Amino acid sequence: MPQDAPLTVAVIGAGIVGLCAALEIQRAGHHVILLEPGEPGGRQAASYGNATWINPGAIAPISLPGLWRKVPGFLLDRTGPFTVRWRDLPRHASWLWRFVAAGRDWDRIATCARERYPLCKDTVTDHKAYAGEAGVGHLIRQQGLVYVYPDRAGFVAESRIWSMRRELGVRFSEIEEAELRRLQPELSQHYRFGARLDDAGQIADPGAYCAALARLLEARGAQRVVARATGFTLNGGRLNAISTDQGSIPCDRAVLAAGIGSASLARIAGDQVPLISERGYHVVVPDPGLELGAGLMPSDGQMGVVSTPQGLRLAGQVELADPDAAPDWRRTDILLGYARKMFPEQARRFDAAEVDRWMGNRPSTPDGLPCIGFASGSTDIVHAFGHAHTGLTQGPATGKLVAALIDGHEPPFDPAPYSARRFAR
Ligand SMILES: Cc1cc2nc3c(=O)[nH]c(=O)nc-3n(C[C@H](O)[C@H](O)[C@H](O)COP(=O)(O)OP(=O)(O)OC[C@H]3O[C@@H](n4cnc5c(N)ncnc54)[C@H](O)[C@@H]3O)c2cc1C
Repeated sequence: MPQDAPLTVAVIGAGIVGLCAALEIQRAGHHVILLEPGEPGGRQAASYGNATWINPGAIAPISLPGLWRKVPGFLLDRTGPFTVRWRDLPRHASWLWRFVAAGRDWDRIATCARERYPLCKDTVTDHKAYAGEAGVGHLIRQQGLVYVYPDRAGFVAESRIWSMRRELGVRFSEIEEAELRRLQPELSQHYRFGARLDDAGQIADPGAYCAALARLLEARGAQRVVARATGFTLNGGRLNAISTDQGSIPCDRAVLAAGIGSASLARIAGDQVPLISERGYHVVVPDPGLELGAGLMPSDGQMGVVSTPQGLRLAGQVELADPDAAPDWRRTDILLGYARKMFPEQARRFDAAEVDRWMGNRPSTPDGLPCIGFASGSTDIVHAFGHAHTGLTQGPATGKLVAALIDGHEPPFDPAPYSARRFAR
C-alpha cells in the first residue's frame, strides 16, 4: 500500500548506495536524514576510490567454477590480483568456503547473473540523470569499457560469461589487433585482442560525484547529520529512533547503507550476514603521458585502468584482511607493475614519487549478491549493502528498489534474491 503521508527516513551511510537510495526516497515525497560521520565523497568510502566503471555487463560474480583450485596459489603468491592475509585466514575461512561454494557450477552462475542484471542494466542512464540534476553531467563518460587479452584464446576461455551477457541483452564488440592499436596506440603488443562493452561508461571522479549528489539532496531539503549510527530503538517491531554517537535521531524508517559498517547494525536489526571486506587499492599517476578513451581491464592484472581528472587511476586487487588493519601498500606496487607492462613507453612515469595511493573496503557477501530488503527484526528498517565489486554500478537500481519498499509502491523488479534471510537458511 503506498504511503499517504510523508515519512521521515534516515539513511545510514552516504556512499553511492545511500545517496542513490536517499535521492529516490526524496523523489517519492519523503523527508530524508542523511547520517554519515565522514564527508560524502570522502576517502573513507569505497565509493571514493573504485575503478569508476558503470557497467551494464557486470553480471558475473567473482567466484566462478574452478576457483577452488586456485585458492592455494592465492595463499602463496603475494603478487597476483587476489590474496588472503595468513593471520586473518582463520576468521575468513568460513566466508571463503561459502564464496568458493557459491561459484561451484555454471547453473548457479547463470542464476546469479540473471539476478544481478536488473541491478546493472540501466546504470548509465540512471547515473546520467542524477549527474544532470546535480550539475555534474561532465563526470559521466560513455565510451565503453574494454577487456584486453594477449590473444583471442583468452577471450574464448571466458566465453561462458560473454555468452550470458549476450543472452541478457548486453551489447559488446570483439576488437581485433589492428583496431585495438588504433584505439589505444600506447598499449603494449602483449595485448592483441579486446572485447568492448559498448554501452558501459565511467564516472570520471566518483568522489566529486558523491559530494555533488549530497549537495543536491541538501538543496532539496534533506538534513545532513554528522554522526555514526550505533543501533536502533524499536518498540514492538516499530522503529522509533536511530541511536548514534551524537545522540538519538527520531525517524519512521531507516535505510542501512553503511558499506562495510553495515554488518553489526544488520545484526541488531535481526540479520546475521556474512559480510567481510574484500579490500581493494588504487594508485593514481598524475602525469602518465597518455589519455585513455575507454577504460581498460587487462586479463592478467584484473584491474580497472582509467583516465580521471587527477591522472591515470589503476584500481583493483582483492585482499581478504581486517578492514581496520594497516594498508599493505605493496599491493599498489603490483598495480603499478601491471601498468608498466601495459604501457612500456610510459613506464618511467609510473615511478613518480607523487602517485596517490588509496585502500578501501568492498562490502562483500560470499554469493555475489547484495542484501536489499526489509530487516528481519523490523520492516521499518531496509537493508541496502553488500555490493562488493559493483556498488557504483548497482547504486541507482538499489535506490529505486529501496524507495519502492519504503514508499509501498510496486518494486521495479523482484527483491526476493537479495533478502538477507537467505543466509539464515
Ligand atoms: C579498488 C576498488 C575498485 C572498484 N571498482 C568498481 C567499479 O569500477 N565499478 C563499480 O560498480 N564498483 C566498484 N567497486 C565497488 C564499489 O566501490 C562499492 O561496491 C561501493 O562503493 C559500495 O558503496 P556503499 O555506499 O555500499 O559503501 P561505501 O562507499 O563504503 O559507503 C559507506 C558509507 O557509510 C558510512 N558509514 C559506515 N558506518 C557507518 C555508521 N555506523 N553510521 C553512519 N555511516 C556509516 C561510511 O563512512 C561510508 O561513507 C570497487 C571497489 C574497490 C575497493
